[in-house]
Amino acid sequence: MDVKKVYVQANALLEGHFTLSSGNHSGYYLQSAKVLEQPSTAKMLADALAQQIRISGLQIDTVCAPALGGMIAGFALAQALDKRSIFAERVNGAMMIRRGFDIRKGEKVLICEDIVTTGGSAMEAANAVTALGGEVVGYAALANRGFCGREGSDITRKVNCKLSAELPLFALADFDFEMYAPESCPLCAGGSQAIKPGSRNN
Ligand code: ZN
Repeated sequence: MDVKKVYVQANALLEGHFTLSSGNHSGYYLQSAKVLEQPSTAKMLADALAQQIRISGLQIDTVCAPALGGMIAGFALAQALDKRSIFAERVNGAMMIRRGFDIRKGEKVLICEDIVTTGGSAMEAANAVTALGGEVVGYAALANRGFCGREGSDITRKVNCKLSAELPLFALADFDFEMYAPESCPLCAGGSQAIKPGSRNN
């Protein structure tokens, strides 16, 4: 499956010249929720990710997603794996498991995001699971922005990756886009003007 093409066709990955929320410029802009707006596309991506996880032999009981970003991907993946689906959410800045979701001692939990950038939210969700006695066994995402290493890719882990280095990350693709400071942006140098398609780069 050409995951990048799936994103482009869903208008979830825009190509052009963009100003990101960080102020950097890029030739790409990700609007990751857009790829999941068609349930058939979400199912196709989740099935492919589930297949990768099954082949690895990793045992899991539950998929936990950090809200809001990971919720739809997490549910779709749990459905594909026929596992329980829960989510963690931020309460006054701290990621917590609420809504009556129980985690039993030693329960094997896979943390699922839509896109892993540095993995900050995934790591916070993992900590919330661990605090309740669960065992985090790995991470999953539809795509990896290239800061963290993943199974089946030779992209190396960067210093700003926040995920545990000992646990596997499963993802369908690397979206390892170049970012440029405005003053050294080759797209600006080429004479085009950067646009800001959304208020945040996620
Ligand atoms: Zn530029």
